[in-house]
Amino acid sequence: MTLRKLWLFSVILVTMTTGVSNSSFSDDSDAYLKQRLKMVQEQIANPIDGREPVSNERVLKALAEVPRHLFVPQDVRDMAYADRPLPIGHGQTISQPYIVASMTELLAPKAEHVVLEVGTGSGYQAAVLSRLVKHVYSIEIVRPLAEQARDYLLAHGFKNVTVKAGDGYAGWPEHAPFDGIIVTAAPDHVPEPLIEQLRPGGRMVIPVGERYAVQELMLLTKREDGTINEERVMSVGFVPLTRDQ
Ligand code: SAH
Repeated sequence: MTLRKLWLFSVILVTMTTGVSNSSFSDDSDAYLKQRLKMVQEQIANPIDGREPVSNERVLKALAEVPRHLFVPQDVRDMAYADRPLPIGHGQTISQPYIVASMTELLAPKAEHVVLEVGTGSGYQAAVLSRLVKHVYSIEIVRPLAEQARDYLLAHGFKNVTVKAGDGYAGWPEHAPFDGIIVTAAPDHVPEPLIEQLRPGGRMVIPVGERYAVQELMLLTKREDGTINEERVMSVGFVPLTRDQ
């Protein structure tokens, strides 16, 4: 057994025997917990199909704890832990679990960080991040989604997340600079305001590409002198970053 497998096995045991998730989230049955731990094991920590494993232990733990099924609509709840994105209404989707995990790992979240998310959607990515950083600011352009995510996050005790309805292209200057910025809708270029609002040393994870085409997931790092290092990570498919709703 590799060290990571051993670690994961112990997390699973502890989670199941102490019922961490059961006690924190009222609507988290054993069946969902089992599916979630299987998701982490088979899709994220040890993917069987050649995908790069996610190995950041804090990230794996957050994915094992946050009840993804509470963030998807009732009619697709039984697919909440499947290896795929799911519809969340208004033509939008909750990303595939592996993508959420990879993007979170790329952000290198630390307990003292303040991060910005553009594209709240269901609120799931924000919930995962909220277990890993000090505060999450998240912007969603579709007002009913923003309001629903805000209600859900609050109802399930994710208190260190602030959601607002608006166009995330402009970032959230009042709370800048951010240690990390994660964009979960794809623009065709990296928005300049987001680069400005990144702290020197900070990281931005963002899919960039043409509408409804394959996009490149980019990792941007701001150097201490303010210049930007850009790295292509993998091909992804996100809904477009829209501008005028
Ligand atoms: N992170 C989400 C995934 C959301 S899908 C989750 O965990 O569920 C991308 C979201 O980005 C959609 O809800 C879409 O409405 C939103 N979006 C698109 N353009 C945006 C913009 N300019 N500003 C903020 N949100 C935007």
